[in-house]
Amino acid sequence: MLTLRLQVSPRLNFLVFLLLLWGCNPPAPTANNGQTRIVVTTGMVGDLVQHVAGEHAEVLTLYDAVDPHQYAPTGSDIKEIMLADVVFYSGLHLEGPMADAFEGRSRRGGEIHAVTERLAKEDVRTPEGSEGHPDPHVWHDPILWGQCALDVGEILSEIDPEHAADYRQNALDYQQRLKEIDAFAQQVLGAIPEKQRHLVTAHDAFEYFAGRYGLEVRSIQGISTMSQAGLFDQERLIDFMVENQIPMIFVESTVPEKFVRQVIEGAHVKGWEVQKGDVLYSDAMGTPGTYEGTYIGMLDHNIATIGKGLGSKWEGPFSFQEYEQQQAATATEPAN
Ligand SMILES: [Zn+2]
Repeated sequence: MLTLRLQVSPRLNFLVFLLLLWGCNPPAPTANNGQTRIVVTTGMVGDLVQHVAGEHAEVLTLYDAVDPHQYAPTGSDIKEIMLADVVFYSGLHLEGPMADAFEGRSRRGGEIHAVTERLAKEDVRTPEGSEGHPDPHVWHDPILWGQCALDVGEILSEIDPEHAADYRQNALDYQQRLKEIDAFAQQVLGAIPEKQRHLVTAHDAFEYFAGRYGLEVRSIQGISTMSQAGLFDQERLIDFMVENQIPMIFVESTVPEKFVRQVIEGAHVKGWEVQKGDVLYSDAMGTPGTYEGTYIGMLDHNIATIGKGLGSKWEGPFSFQEYEQQQAATATEPAN
């Protein structure tokens, strides 16, 4: 579901009010029971930062199942951003409507960081035709996301040197988990036959994922959901699917399904039946408190959905959770 709030002027007034209230002295990193209070934007950033900060911080995630390209902050979001000890966001222009709030905080010298800010330039994708805008969907590559975790470990160590050893160790542990699910994904997705390796989705969130696992992405919208699907793009996509006999288009949790239905109908008119695949988690994780509401769970779901949908010949379980249980059971079997 999309949450759109376009009342710009009350929001700005409130921001100005908070800045006045806050004055020129950003709060020092103190918090309840010695924990640092960290405010983050997306669930993916929240998962990463909570793992790295561990017991030393309380992490508040602002975004639920919303579209981060379009979500405009509420008054209470802005207040949280202003009053936190540290703010982390995803960056690379993902949270466009948050720019004023981020700027307001950084102008006052408050700690605010994009988890992607230290990535090497060559690791950040800049798609053709995007006029130099970077692709922000880094979290779909677990190896790059692991690098972001190490970077957050360093940033927290600089802010709070007393616990530096913990931050660095936590970051390494998190990175290790991401390497494990990456190895699983390589097996599942590596077994998709060559001519079926086309991932067709509603908006272009999966370039990092596809780059990592050797798939090719086609999408209805560009890298931001802010651009409405143009009729021309849609026609081109339909022709591509008909010509290459691509059997499936995937739905995304944060993008309206009507665009997907239009493509299916357009292909049908041209004599090719396209199936609607299961929902992929693109720009938000699943419901908090569920497995899909964790970063690993989100990735696990997407790997299984894409692997099965594109006809992977992988013979093991399509679930990372089940795969790990199976591996553990095999490891503990008594040898004869
Ligand atoms: Zn997106």
